[in-house]
Amino acid sequence: MVPRSWLIYSKKRDAIFCFPCILFGSSSTKQIMPALADAQKGFNDWRHLSPHIPEHENSTFHRENCIKWKMLEQKIKRKTTIDASLQKAIDQETNKWRHILKVCTNILFFCAENNLPLRGSHERIGESGSGVFLSDVDMISKFDPELRAHIESLHKGNISYFTPYIQNELIDILASEVKKQILDDLKA
Ligand SMILES: [Zn+2]
Repeated sequence: MVPRSWLIYSKKRDAIFCFPCILFGSSSTKQIMPALADAQKGFNDWRHLSPHIPEHENSTFHRENCIKWKMLEQKIKRKTTIDASLQKAIDQETNKWRHILKVCTNILFFCAENNLPLRGSHERIGESGSGVFLSDVDMISKFDPELRAHIESLHKGNISYFTPYIQNELIDILASEVKKQILDDLKA
């Protein structure tokens, strides 16, 4: 048995392919090394695997493509590709929303523990009469630059996570968690 990490098999096409040659191979590679480097065809002449695979493996084109593949793999690991910077931006966005959700949930806990109604007579953050929930959001944002920046971006019509719909959804989720806990205690 010879392990070959570059060789891939497609069940649908019932054929084998060379991963790095498909990824990095130029059109000239495909002319010289047809089947294995062609994503549309692949190689399925099973009787002639023996000369074909070693020939492909030892070709200059294949080796060059393998080097490109391994170099990209290293770059991804070191996070120096364009994808890595995009991934970083996605992570930052995810963390931002997690943070906002955490603030909202904690305000809900606070209101529930103190029997406070959430809503006021309008939904304008920072104005009196907006109710305990939005007043709390406004108060916390004075010490929380990330939350403040989020509130300031809201008039552009963005998603806020502060609407009554989200409040009710979070209350429902929390309620079902409490119910689950009570049932678990009873069963125990
Ligand atoms: Zn190859």
